[in-house]
Amino acid sequence: MNSTEKSITGYEPKVTLINAPFDPDSIIAISCDITMKPQFNMINNLQTSKIKGTVKNLLTMNHTSLFEHIHYTFFIQNITRSLLAQITRHRIGSFTSSSQHYQEYDQHYGFSIDKKHIDNIFVVQAINQSIESYKILRRAGVSKEEARQVLPNAIHVNLLWSVNARSLINFLNLRMCKRNVLEMRLFAMEIHEIVKKHFPTLFNLIGPDCFMTQCRQGKMSCQK
Ligand SMILES: Cc1cc2nc3c(=O)[nH]c(=O)nc-3n(C[C@H](O)[C@H](O)[C@H](O)COP(=O)(O)OP(=O)(O)OC[C@H]3O[C@@H](n4cnc5c(N)ncnc54)[C@H](O)[C@@H]3O)c2cc1C
Repeated sequence: MNSTEKSITGYEPKVTLINAPFDPDSIIAISCDITMKPQFNMINNLQTSKIKGTVKNLLTMNHTSLFEHIHYTFFIQNITRSLLAQITRHRIGSFTSSSQHYQEYDQHYGFSIDKKHIDNIFVVQAINQSIESYKILRRAGVSKEEARQVLPNAIHVNLLWSVNARSLINFLNLRMCKRNVLEMRLFAMEIHEIVKKHFPTLFNLIGPDCFMTQCRQGKMSCQK
């Protein structure tokens, strides 16, 4: 590897949950009680044991606005700029990403591609040529925000994503489906593992259409 060559890995999204409510079951219990009772005792609500059935009913009845009270913030590393373009299509959420305008982008970020191409010399050369072109442009006095136009989609980005549980249900339902590209599916599965641990009552019930109801992909269905 010469000085311009950077590390290229398979898709290994790294997700850290940095903020989530302490007791999501109780938030749902309280919001359900508010809809049904003029007065309620906060302590009794916190001890509710019926929450599993309630969450299932809320999903079935599509009374999902209650899940908007559960907020998550994830710190995400080792994802590509292509994944950034896809995840930011999910408008119900907040995003902050590393800037190719302010950062010297060749120095600190790696690349990911499907690991079946990692030993393909043409793919590796193409990525290295792209980063070399970026360096040449920078040395020639081209600004960071213009030089970045030659960087590949495979380059990594750091991302902060804040999203509520209702929007996450939509995200996971759409993005765990096999119609999505490999990196997105791996990323969605990583997010799913984290939220299942935090709020199993809800997220054990969430998955692609084929898991939750039935596939709607018609001819494009993977049939699995
Ligand atoms: C397999 C797959 C392939 C895809 N391919 C492409 C592609 O080729 N090209 C492409 O451009 N996109 C593509 N997308 C992106 C897709 O079209 C959506 O933009 C993306 O999945 C975000 O979904 P969303 O709008 O439901 O999410 P959000 O933006 O988070 O919105 C959540 C929900 O809020 C409501 N909502 C949000 N904004 C509005 C609005 N303005 N008006 C009315 N209701 C609103 C809707 O009910 C929506 O489902 C693809 C997605 C998948 C899963």
